[in-house]
Amino acid sequence: MLKSKEVCQILELVRSYSVPIRDDRVWGLITWYVKALQNAIDMIWDNIEWRYSFPELVRKGKKLVVIRGLKVRIPIIPRDRAFKKRLREELMKDNPYAAHWVDAVIRTAYSIMENWRRRYLRGRARKVKPRIRRRFARCKTTLMKIDYQAKSIRITLKQGEYLSISWRSTWFEHRVRGWAVGEVIIFDDRVVIPFKSSKEIEVRRVIGWDSNELSLDGYEPSIGFIHVDLKPLQSMKILYERKKAIAQRKGRRELYEKYVRRERDREKDFINKLSAGLRMLFPNTIHVFEDLDKEDLVSRKKRRKKRRKRNARTPWRRIHRRMSEVALTASVDPRNTSRECPRCGYVVETQEGHVFECPRCGLKMNRHKVASINIRRRYLEGKRRRKRRAGMRGFPHSNEPEETMMVELWVGVTPSGRSPVIWIPMKRDPEGDEAKGRGLDIKQYQAR
Ligand SMILES: [Zn+2]
Repeated sequence: MLKSKEVCQILELVRSYSVPIRDDRVWGLITWYVKALQNAIDMIWDNIEWRYSFPELVRKGKKLVVIRGLKVRIPIIPRDRAFKKRLREELMKDNPYAAHWVDAVIRTAYSIMENWRRRYLRGRARKVKPRIRRRFARCKTTLMKIDYQAKSIRITLKQGEYLSISWRSTWFEHRVRGWAVGEVIIFDDRVVIPFKSSKEIEVRRVIGWDSNELSLDGYEPSIGFIHVDLKPLQSMKILYERKKAIAQRKGRRELYEKYVRRERDREKDFINKLSAGLRMLFPNTIHVFEDLDKEDLVSRKKRRKKRRKRNARTPWRRIHRRMSEVALTASVDPRNTSRECPRCGYVVETQEGHVFECPRCGLKMNRHKVASINIRRRYLEGKRRRKRRAGMRGFPHSNEPEETMMVELWVGVTPSGRSPVIWIPMKRDPEGDEAKGRGLDIKQYQAR
């Protein structure tokens, strides 16, 4: 539990809905937009500077720490005023629309390039210039006039020429009442409108989550340990891997594509249900995860090892992203989270197997549990450090983990018939009956 004085944090929610549009001018707009966007990307790409980045060592206390282990080439995206001016002038040459549309194009081009750069540095994208394959036009708020009373948006095409859309009498009208409209995206047949709302949430709990191959393992002192089973997701993915392999072997492209789509849908469904379930089960909570981006930056060599640990099958980034959309989340540096003793702070050199053993204080505990305690503590310590106060270890005041960590919650999403149903366990009631509610299933587990 946090101190009696509760902290409030703002949770930003975004919901996107689309409204159909039928307007002959849309096709022309999108055609110009996509062409201009590709031109902008081409220009940025041609002006990228490839800089060598050398191995870097930093002294931390008595130790030398490797920040980057290998010599790598890093793309630097041009951002100086002179370049941006040139880019804008070039795009303005062939622009029949309002000047703000060129700014919208430039911004989208930069965000695509930034995205590519991040993925490239993580080893997830190749050194290939991004190509625009979809027909769309992303607007800018300066091009939009929103009438919340009439529930309509007027988009400027050029001076005196507008596109009008409205979300009045739509099925989602009531779901976004009082929400703010963000930048719309125009497609040939529809406009996607993002609605935003900020909700103030009282933080009463902080849960540290360790993201593992087959499970998500959490810890919070008032709850104990939480074990989220991800095996159903794993077996679903294995099943589709097999199906895809068979389709590929038989050379059936269409069937293969169908499986790809289905797998994606089922994965999305699983992640949505998991996130919604965790939010429901743990309200007023900050969920702390490891920062996967930081992990990748540590070194490319190390990353391969880590990926083996996490398993490429489990879509961690998607799970973290979805969680951050529906609940308060935070991330911490993932280094050493499963190698540091949560009782005395000793860092063991190597850690093999499932059980953590501290040579200094003798603590014996499941490695995932150790990591979840450390992740939680790291977040709280970071907060405290920001307030210039001394840190403390992860255990509650009694310093006896065995007392507060007796119970382990089991949470999972299991397929039931055709549509997966979430089952979430809660603490067993004192009589020892397995309490059930809202299709939730309960299992209890004694911590060792
Ligand atoms: Zn220890």
